[in-house]
Amino acid sequence: MCVTTHDNCEGVGPPATQAPISHTGQVLARAVTFQFALDPNAQQRILFVKCAGARRFTVNHHLARVRANLDTRSVEREALGEGEDPREPSTPSLSWSTFSFINEFNAWKNGESAASPVNEDGSRGLVWRHELPSDVFECASVDAARALENFAASRRGERSGAAVGFPRFQAKGKVTPSFRLRNRATPARSPSSQPIRFSDPSHLRLPKFGPVKLFGPTRQVRRMIDLGRFHIYSATLTQRAGRWTVSLTGVAAELHQAERSRTHRHAVPVGVDRGIISLCVAADANGVPFERFEGVKTLKHALRTLKAANQTLARTTPGSKGRQRAKARLAKTHRKVVNIRRHLVHQASRALVDRCQVIVIEDLNVAGMVRNRHLSRSISDAAMGELSRQLLYKARWHGVEVRVADRWFPSSKTCSSCGVVRNELDLSTRTYSCGVCGLVIDRDLNAAINLARWQPAGPSAVTLLDPTRALLLSTA
Ligand SMILES: [Zn+2]
Repeated sequence: MCVTTHDNCEGVGPPATQAPISHTGQVLARAVTFQFALDPNAQQRILFVKCAGARRFTVNHHLARVRANLDTRSVEREALGEGEDPREPSTPSLSWSTFSFINEFNAWKNGESAASPVNEDGSRGLVWRHELPSDVFECASVDAARALENFAASRRGERSGAAVGFPRFQAKGKVTPSFRLRNRATPARSPSSQPIRFSDPSHLRLPKFGPVKLFGPTRQVRRMIDLGRFHIYSATLTQRAGRWTVSLTGVAAELHQAERSRTHRHAVPVGVDRGIISLCVAADANGVPFERFEGVKTLKHALRTLKAANQTLARTTPGSKGRQRAKARLAKTHRKVVNIRRHLVHQASRALVDRCQVIVIEDLNVAGMVRNRHLSRSISDAAMGELSRQLLYKARWHGVEVRVADRWFPSSKTCSSCGVVRNELDLSTRTYSCGVCGLVIDRDLNAAINLARWQPAGPSAVTLLDPTRALLLSTA
């Protein structure tokens, strides 16, 4: 899949020749994903589950083949002895390219390869291959090849971050059921002839599945598609807590110039601190409170239900029907909490990007580092990560600068009036009181002011969004 993003927030994208052009002549250079909850009928639901199974099956097929090849070659290499014999093992190595994976699997399932399965009636190939879209198998082959390439790159030392081991086999019940379908048409083709398209406001047409009902307002995305401002590359269907969702990944045109060069934005840098009770608190470098984004009652209610669902689960017997029910309920409540919070975070991030010229946030990694067993705290950590992610990509789209304060910056422990840094500040202390200048201020507000005043140590310390990372995060 080819997804491009623009390179800086001024919107000077890649050369027009690289970016795809839509049927109305728009340059599509901005990676965008739309997500909707689905309401499939019984037949479609069965087919979805089969497709997710076929994806696991295909990935495991490739992993098993490669694993066996690696093992055989390793045994042969040992048998050859060391040093004196430079001969390669007699078993040739397999190609791990996406093309060879797709070709190999197609030949195997169609009964054209020597290794193809032989059925009871004497026919060869995978019996159920025609029940499902062939794209499911091809995308799964691509995924397997990518996972192996990550493993190979890590082994060669060409990959930063933690070492990547041999990809895991996809066990049923252990992996989230998911599969991908490509929209096999260029953006230049008219929207009505695209294989993946909206057949009406509440139905998405997927090849082989027909129109699938979906929830939520689709007006924006349909309008963008009709105007040639968005093109769908692929649809990923995922089942979480019993509910199927679709992520439409594709490329969009830049926002209108007016959106990117608003003049009425707050000129003074605004710091945004994750609140413990509020969602986040924003204040500017002059010490003026900017905005406090509160959680809502529905979220508090959902959190209470979550706690109750956890307690119910703890009282059930392992392996019982009751435990299954309690698990399903807990998962459903979790999904609800996540959805409500994501919605709130979207509102907050959009408001901040609309109204500020410079936004200062804490290092993204803070969210991952501060692990706390307290439930509400861990959820607010997750929201902070999500808030940073949304702020970064929205700021990029709208031409707003985001500065990321380094993770050691003591935003909470510093007095925003006299600048003295305290050694200790308990999480339960809601109010910051300074022993030197006598300032008494809300803890989160104090931190937000300090963040707004944070100065980068050098030009490199100003971190703007890495578009590929944002894309990875948004499609993860
Ligand atoms: Zn002070």
